[in-house]
Amino acid sequence: MIDTHCHLDSEYYDGIVENTIVEAFNEGIEAILIPATDTKSLQKVENISKLDDRLFFSAGIHPHNANEYNDVTVNEINRLLKNSDCKAIGEIGLDYYYDFTPKALQIDVFKKQLQLAVENNLPAIIHNRDADEDILSVIEEMQDKSLKAVLHCFSSNKEYAQIFMDAGMMFSFTGNITFKKSNLSEIVEMIPIDRIMLETDGPYMTPVPFRGKTNHPKYIKLIAEKISEIKNMKIEEIIEMTNKNAKNFFKLIAVMFLVLIANMNFAFAQEYEDDLYYDEIRFNRPLIGLGPIFGTNTIVESYDKGSGNTEEISYDGIFAPGAKLTVTPFQWLLVDFSYLYSKNQKIADENVNTRPTLHHIFGLGTTVIFNPNNRINFGLNLGANYISVSLGSTETEPEYRNDFSINAGLGIIGNLEIGNIGLANIAIKWDIYFIMNKYTGYLKTETIPREVSTYYSVPKLELIFYPNIFNF
Ligand SMILES: [Zn+2]
Ligand SMILES: [Zn+2]
Repeated sequence: MIDTHCHLDSEYYDGIVENTIVEAFNEGIEAILIPATDTKSLQKVENISKLDDRLFFSAGIHPHNANEYNDVTVNEINRLLKNSDCKAIGEIGLDYYYDFTPKALQIDVFKKQLQLAVENNLPAIIHNRDADEDILSVIEEMQDKSLKAVLHCFSSNKEYAQIFMDAGMMFSFTGNITFKKSNLSEIVEMIPIDRIMLETDGPYMTPVPFRGKTNHPKYIKLIAEKISEIKNMKIEEIIEMTNKNAKNFFKLIAVMFLVLIANMNFAFAQEYEDDLYYDEIRFNRPLIGLGPIFGTNTIVESYDKGSGNTEEISYDGIFAPGAKLTVTPFQWLLVDFSYLYSKNQKIADENVNTRPTLHHIFGLGTTVIFNPNNRINFGLNLGANYISVSLGSTETEPEYRNDFSINAGLGIIGNLEIGNIGLANIAIKWDIYFIMNKYTGYLKTETIPREVSTYYSVPKLELIFYPNIFNF
């Protein structure tokens, strides 16, 4: 669940804001967006968003405070827009119910801020109280400018719901849909689920049965439940859809990582873009995991024939099974101890009286993860290895050689939460092992020893399981 609108900067949360956030995340809320309302809150929402990676904010001036909109606030808003946690312009709009500021001023400030949203390619969070007609006409003016907006705490009538839907608006609902007198049920029913997001509008609009008390993000489930009841859909479906809508609408993605991917020209960036949304899978969870590795090793030997000539021999498709123990000191870093085994039977098959070469690879490795909060992680691997090699003639006892290597490569890791039992990682990795030392060997047709340089190319599949009991 994502609470797309909660005023955590409100004085109602003074002294309890940290606790409120912790409670929300413990209840399974994935993210909270804190909309700004006035000059003071512009500062506050940014500061609160720093408390946790799952907190985002928007910048804007509420119609109640339209008279605070001036060059200074515009500068401040522009400054906030540079923060990647600022996901929208809001909350802005028109409020003719309280009428705290003149209508003409409200409309002017609303228009200017919608313009800011369009210019910055950000969605707008619109507050509308008894101002359907004017909201609509302002929106219609902006229509050809590809405005993206949500009507938050939607409470207009059915006719306007239809008109706003036709205008391409998103809708978010608060605790007021749970109120007995509410006639919002038929509106919730008519708006397709792919247009709906959840919000508490805390500290206001507290859902039944907590009505009258301070609203908290943790109550968002009551709104999801009410929607599932009205729409006769499973609550899981409501949660999944509204999550998806909020992530898409507010672009709650690891922006920096997408830039990195684009620069690295990963062909799969597009394909996986949907999965790069914020999923908090590894978040706040130091882990210890264990599991098997299945790889194929291609051993490439390069024999130095003198005066700059080399001859390459490669043995490919050698099955390389192994195992790995992984610890995560930081969410962006995996440190592992691994063992990998390769038996080069081909060398024995191709040469008379030759033993298969056995490679026991003991590694100390690291994987740096660029986007630790996502369901699919991308990482760079770097490690050092001690390799015990046994080889020789079948006529004599095996000989042993100690090799040392540095490995480097890329990986893509899928995170799969398995109930309360733990986290499974399915990783596809590809590493090159550069053998740092040289050794002497014989080319098939020769009896002169040659200096040999070697590397291994090892694509592998790793299945690592992180049981919850190992969490520390
Ligand atoms: Zn509002
Ligand atoms: Zn609000």
